Amino acid sequence: MSFLESLYQAVVLEHYRHPHNHGPLADATHRQEGVNPSCGDELTLHLRVEDGRIGDARFEGEGCAISQASASLMTDALKGRTVDAALELARDFKAMIRGEAPSSELGDLAALQGVSKLHARVKCATLAWTTLEAALLDAPEPDRSRPSSGSGGGL
Ligand code: ZN
Repeated sequence: MSFLESLYQAVVLEHYRHPHNHGPLADATHRQEGVNPSCGDELTLHLRVEDGRIGDARFEGEGCAISQASASLMTDALKGRTVDAALELARDFKAMIRGEAPSSELGDLAALQGVSKLHARVKCATLAWTTLEAALLDAPEPDRSRPSSGSGGGL
């Protein structure tokens, strides 16, 4: 194992043991569940989208180290991005997991690059991102996502 490979594994394990952004998000505008039956990974993604930009991202769920680390790294990377940039990042991440060269710098997300050689685990790594795409592309009605009125909070 090369130094870089072991470093990347350490990043994945660290995010699995101490996931970032783990838990509910009270004022979420988007909530999406995702499952990876082949491994038993479960994920619920919570997003707060304001003016086309992701203000906050959190997740809940259980699964293997790769799926949880991917969700932890993803939620870190999403904050402050526009919805379009988040979807572009999802495409780039999936390209990397397919073994292709991503079109942009992926930063810490490159820790999961080794999964491209583990075909059985590809769906573990992409679960969070597929869930993200489902959440953002299946956009709620405009009048349901308006943050301006009231604080009743149905979620
Ligand atoms: Zn898994």
